[in-house]
Amino acid sequence: MDIIYLDNNATTRVAPEVVEAMMPFLTEAYFNPSSMYEASRGPADAIAAARRTVAKLLGNARATEILFTSCATESNNTAVYGTIAARPERRHIVTSAVEHPAIYEVAKDLARRGFEVDFVPVDTQGRIDKGAFVRALRPETLLVSVMHANNETGVVYPIAELSRIAKETDPSIVFHTDATQTVGKLPIDLRGSFQHVDLLSFSGHKLHAPKGIGALFIRRGTPCRPFLLGGHQEDGRRGGTENVAFIVGLARALELAAGRHDADEPRIRAQRDRLQSELVARIPYLEVNGGEAERLTNTLNIACHFIEGEGILYQLSEHGICASSGSACTSGSLEPSHVLRAMKVPFTAVHGSVRFSLSHYTTDAEIDRVIEVFPEIVASLRRLSPYWDAAKNVPRPEALAMLSETEMPQAR
Ligand code: PLP
Repeated sequence: MDIIYLDNNATTRVAPEVVEAMMPFLTEAYFNPSSMYEASRGPADAIAAARRTVAKLLGNARATEILFTSCATESNNTAVYGTIAARPERRHIVTSAVEHPAIYEVAKDLARRGFEVDFVPVDTQGRIDKGAFVRALRPETLLVSVMHANNETGVVYPIAELSRIAKETDPSIVFHTDATQTVGKLPIDLRGSFQHVDLLSFSGHKLHAPKGIGALFIRRGTPCRPFLLGGHQEDGRRGGTENVAFIVGLARALELAAGRHDADEPRIRAQRDRLQSELVARIPYLEVNGGEAERLTNTLNIACHFIEGEGILYQLSEHGICASSGSACTSGSLEPSHVLRAMKVPFTAVHGSVRFSLSHYTTDAEIDRVIEVFPEIVASLRRLSPYWDAAKNVPRPEALAMLSETEMPQAR
């Protein structure tokens, strides 16, 4: 059975062009880039070129402002722990209620350790409450960390505006954004609209580079202590022998994404919009999570009332269709996602949410296939649901009454 891969916010397939660019550094050019002999010059030069490429494609950043890491989780941890280590006198942090665990769990860890952390709420569409954001900022705030786009819903956050507001409150507030879901999908201009962003994280495996490579932009002059201490690699900012092939692959993937953006964007948007409108038309009691907010064009998160996401994913998988019921890190747990809870998705739907995320490689035929099988999957699961009257093929009255409830009903 052919796989229909619609889980690109979890990870992406590595582009053949990326593999090709990486191969020399996995084979004959394996030398340690820090060594002194002539043969090491090739890998060292390749890292330098990749750093220039990545910097340029993020809006003409300086090459020295790019730090290569192992993943976005490491970039995020470096950004947060590196900032607090550099300025121990400040202990107030502002973040959002919908961050990926790679920030959310770090923020909760800091709160447990006595930092003051404000988790700015979002509305039912997942949009950040700007009033609450402004009220949370204080002159003594150390760090603000708000993601550029949410991995579960695709909702895009107004980072240019939020970073400007933070700097107006106090220019020394450090502004970090987790751009893991946007680099390669949305243009990022660190000299223009993102000029107030000090730290920006992302990961290769979301944009057709391999897993195990990430990057952190650190604007010149930003106080950020190294997170991994060791050798002098990365200009003394991260110990550890550089992952040459993967660094080269990351730069190649960014180049490809930039070159393909203008053609990919409208095609992927049309595919996602068609998937959305067809499913909404064919399935009753279905909502689009974040549907009224500005969203990444590749993401569709739908809430199917009265059924369980796990059941849907299992049945999709029987058809070879790969999707997700939340962030990859939280799937497997029975807890509904903190993102959907923050958006107050009703109790009857929060467990039945499914995310489809498209990519450059998604075809119209694959979208057709999902439109064909998904309504029947939902219908068959509803027939088994205690909230559904299978004889009349409608929700039970008591289930309808719960439609607006966000919390689990108490056991009676
Ligand atoms: N941040 C966001 C928004 C993500 O979507 C992800 C991955 O799902 C991460 C961070 C973590 O990325 P990595 O797997 O590279 O650590």
